[in-house]
Amino acid sequence: MPERVGFIGLGAIGWPIAKHVAGRFETTVWNRTAARAQEFAKANKAKVARSPGDLVKQVDVVITCLPTSREVWEVADAAKDAWHAGQLLLDATSGDPFTSRELAKRLAGSQVGFVDAPVSGGVSGAEAGKLTVMVGGEDQWFARAKPVIEAYASKIVHVGPVGTGHATKAVNNALLAVNILAAGEGLAALVKMGVPASKALEVINASSGRSNVSENLVPQRVVTRAWPRTFRLALLHKDLDIAADVLRDAEVPHETIGLAWRLFSEARKALGEEVDHVEIIKLIEKQAGIEIK
Ligand code: NDP
Repeated sequence: MPERVGFIGLGAIGWPIAKHVAGRFETTVWNRTAARAQEFAKANKAKVARSPGDLVKQVDVVITCLPTSREVWEVADAAKDAWHAGQLLLDATSGDPFTSRELAKRLAGSQVGFVDAPVSGGVSGAEAGKLTVMVGGEDQWFARAKPVIEAYASKIVHVGPVGTGHATKAVNNALLAVNILAAGEGLAALVKMGVPASKALEVINASSGRSNVSENLVPQRVVTRAWPRTFRLALLHKDLDIAADVLRDAEVPHETIGLAWRLFSEARKALGEEVDHVEIIKLIEKQAGIEIK
């Protein structure tokens, strides 16, 4: 029998992921702001649950896509009397491995499975159903999660036991943060020297310094001055926090990632909770006294 899926967290990336899930599975949604769940259900022929517990009672697989592992823990706990043996919690949040291991242990007590399955590819990748998903968890639960993840991903990698999906995502996003800072600083200098951003990017994108930041984010968001808000800087700062913890726990050097964490902490204080992650480049431009265009 096909899985019945429950989806919790219809935010910027949760919504388009849930849309693909609802296209393939009987889906029930819950969102903290109820109006958003109603709107989603209407547009995607889904059902709306009254509470996390009400949702958990009705489905086989629960997907969470919330800001941090703290909220995942809270909703799992709010539904604590509803979990039943054989269910799976598939956490698409970019969460932290330490909380996820605790949660997995707790759910295992009720014979409920857990996989951490964060996503990469941004809102546009989610809309296209072409996300990359890195999964941490036991083989049996990965096998159970895979057909559901296939609804919204084009690349699925089982990276290891519970927590390793979240750790891999945190390291990936730390690389993103480092690239944003380095590209912003380097391009600011080149523009100041009279090299147009388009020419600098033409060279970098045919050379060894290229990255998603130089190929997509800077040309589409900075040079155009469009600055769309798709992934909050506060969430990238949270990912750096997790990455720093992962590196510290593994007892490896973390000077570069630690510095990126500090610069994103300062940017979060200066720019607030709602700005996009790429907007940190505005601070570099301000200090440099130029615009990258
Ligand atoms: P948003 O901030 O857009 O959405 C957050 C969602 O969580 C909303 O549905 C919100 O509900 C809900 N929520 C917030 N606090 C609580 C709470 N205390 N209890 C219950 N629900 C709560 O985040 P995104 O969708 O952008 O990100 C979700 C996750 O995906 C994050 O971990 C992020 O790092 C990750 N991610 C995001 C990407 C992106 O491009 N946006 C890319 C890859 C990963 P409400 O509607 O009431 O506010």
